[in-house]
Amino acid sequence: MLKLPVYLDNNATTPVDPAVLEAMIPFFTQHFGNAASKNHIFGWEADEAVTYAREQVAHLIGAEPNEIIFTSGATESNNLALKGIVETYAVKGNHIITLNTEHKAVLDTCKHLEKQGVEVTYLPVQEDGLIDIKALEAAIKPTTILIAVMYANNEIGVIQPISTISAIAKKHGILLFTDATQAVGKILVDVVKDGIDIMAFSAHKMYGPKGVGALYVRRKNPRVKLVAQIDGGGHERGMRSGTLNVPGIVGLGKACELCRLQMADDAARTARLRNKLEQAILQLEGVTVNGNTLYRLPNVSNLSFQYADGEGLLMGFNKNLAVSSGSACSSASLEPSYVLKALGLSNDLAHSSVRFSLSRFTTEEEIDFAIQQITLTLQELKIWSHG
Ligand SMILES: *Cc1c(COP(=O)(O)O)cnc(C)c1O
Repeated sequence: MLKLPVYLDNNATTPVDPAVLEAMIPFFTQHFGNAASKNHIFGWEADEAVTYAREQVAHLIGAEPNEIIFTSGATESNNLALKGIVETYAVKGNHIITLNTEHKAVLDTCKHLEKQGVEVTYLPVQEDGLIDIKALEAAIKPTTILIAVMYANNEIGVIQPISTISAIAKKHGILLFTDATQAVGKILVDVVKDGIDIMAFSAHKMYGPKGVGALYVRRKNPRVKLVAQIDGGGHERGMRSGTLNVPGIVGLGKACELCRLQMADDAARTARLRNKLEQAILQLEGVTVNGNTLYRLPNVSNLSFQYADGEGLLMGFNKNLAVSSGSACSSASLEPSYVLKALGLSNDLAHSSVRFSLSRFTTEEEIDFAIQQITLTLQELKIWSHG
């Protein structure tokens, strides 16, 4: 039986995989110890579980366990990476290069750093959302200490050429940070092969719980140093103090293990269903895809509907389809998505865009229903607008 509404907003957050929840439960009431308690079995059990989770997380991304710092999520990881690097490498320089399509957690952190005297270059992207490598190289200065480029975009799913970028960074002795929140668990991410120095990701975008994430920090070639942004008991090798969220960390570990084992199958399944949805909707009048479709996450389709306004679209299927529109509800006004604007879309077209993002739990039946619902909505809007 089809359950409504159909959830197609998995880039905003995913449901927790039942196997992840099952792994977490004992760590609330039974093995509830503080992983920093060294004097009794409650602490030892918790510490053992965290150690195991650290291995699971490291394994998924080709890192060493001692290169993983647990945080409260990708927002915190992004903050720690950018602010921590700027503080550590201030003697070397004060210039950061990033993209204007980064997540707000990166852009707003950069804005904050600018107020403190850091110089930030926000590179525009090409029409398809990909970085312009020549522009990147041209932006590098003797004072550049960091290149911060997201692995895959949350709105359009476009995957940046991270190994090409890391080779450029390495050539100039610059560190490469990537917000890989949308990539980890969906596509192969290998910090060694990709040449990544620092990388942020989050459990709740990969079937884990909300409120827990990680930061990969390279330990050799080069050894990356970070000034902690939260001081206290010296947890996580001094880089992130605070009592560890043991159940959350166990959940992140399990989520990483599941992704490692299922990623290929999940990607093939979601890509097939995504393509089915996209191809069907593209048959309708005035529909176009946003972002490069070759270098794209397997689970995302961002579509513009030229002949429908965003509100009408969402009203048409909001009750039955949970999706994201190209309008970001900021405090007062309905702002068009800055990511879509960066691709050159007009305000109107950005407003009439919708992001569909699938998960490993999305079924064929749900996709068939979505196609039907979208087709109907567009037909109705057309009838109204013509008469
Ligand atoms: C969701 C997301 C974040 C924020 O992650 P939280 O764990 O919710 O703080 C950062 N970057 C990208 C690309 C995201 O998709």
